[in-house]
Amino acid sequence: MIQLADRTWTIEPSVTLALSARAKALRASGIDVCDFTVGEPDFNTPAHIREAAKRALDEGKTKYAPAGGLPKLQELIAAKLRDENSLSYSTNQIIVSTGGKQAILNVLLAILSRGDEALIPSPYWVSYPEIVKLARAVPILMPTTEATAFKITPEQLEAAITPRTRALILNSPSNPTGAIYSRAELTALAEVLVRHEVAVLSDEIYEKLLYNGVEHVSIGSLGEEIFNFTVTCNGFSKAYAATGWRLGYAAGPAHVIKAAVDIQSHTTSGATTFAQYGAIAALEGSQDEVEVMRREFERRRDVFFAGLQTLPGLTCTKPEGAFYLFPNIAATGLSSMDFSQRLLEEYHVAIVPGAAFGADANVRFSYATSMATIEKGLERLQRFMERL
Ligand SMILES: *Cc1c(COP(=O)(O)O)cnc(C)c1O
Repeated sequence: MIQLADRTWTIEPSVTLALSARAKALRASGIDVCDFTVGEPDFNTPAHIREAAKRALDEGKTKYAPAGGLPKLQELIAAKLRDENSLSYSTNQIIVSTGGKQAILNVLLAILSRGDEALIPSPYWVSYPEIVKLARAVPILMPTTEATAFKITPEQLEAAITPRTRALILNSPSNPTGAIYSRAELTALAEVLVRHEVAVLSDEIYEKLLYNGVEHVSIGSLGEEIFNFTVTCNGFSKAYAATGWRLGYAAGPAHVIKAAVDIQSHTTSGATTFAQYGAIAALEGSQDEVEVMRREFERRRDVFFAGLQTLPGLTCTKPEGAFYLFPNIAATGLSSMDFSQRLLEEYHVAIVPGAAFGADANVRFSYATSMATIEKGLERLQRFMERL
């Protein structure tokens, strides 16, 4: 028998896999399942982006691109980061990868050594701790709750830092909580990071999905010192409804990005060439459709949130970004897994238990789905909650 490497021993299988398999099986047997598990926009990628990739294919852009990305795309990303995020990077400080996820993997492989600690605010995006473990480093979770609007405090950060701490992984707007750090909050965290020389990997993939008129602030823009300790990660999946294109990027100090590109050059060799032409069109073209999608998400959030507010046994913080609601179900006395399982079996509503994100008192509803599904799901949820 082939033995598995030790790096596989600690990889957690997805908590949600069993549930989503069950949801699929129910649907296959003809049952109408309301699916709120999805972590991707339900819209199609805007037409001008699709056209640009098709044109690239027809023009023979089917060869290897430079490992770090097409120079033209790197230039456009640099311009975007300058104009929208007040971050000043040159093209050798930008890596284009197959998805934001792989940009994060490349960067963490480049900066974490065996036994290093990476701080992860919890609830967290499921892949962060696993990627840290793949890099042979140790994920250190920093719990947050509704009491701090699911945000870490500077004191908490200070207390978690040890001589082995190399990085903080920050995700604002957050998946799964929708929390957004303000400029003042980020400034306070940046001060602690700079003082301890701890890097921050700032995952800003949901920056375009903001509600209530809140502003997105890139922590790297808050001064030269923190800029030098920041790697900014982003991608095309969420803003441009382009999850299947596998396109993301990271920007940071030149030596870090060079190491990440070197790793990438020996693994994937970089993102798919003709897909990168689509990304060029995404950044060069009109951003109107991004705003149309954002507005639709906001409309759904408002309806879904208002519906949840009326339900007994459940409390919900109003998310300011991304496309998830993360209500607290502790009052039901059920674990997040039991709650999710019963809701699926008895009322055919599929959600993700908070345990998957390190928060067993919560469950995640994605509103990247139609308004009709939201309305139907709310009705079912109401009947479920009343009978609990
Ligand atoms: C979706 C997502 C990503 C990246 O997704 P890609 O499709 O790999 O670009 C990164 N971080 C978070 C928190 C996400 O939800």
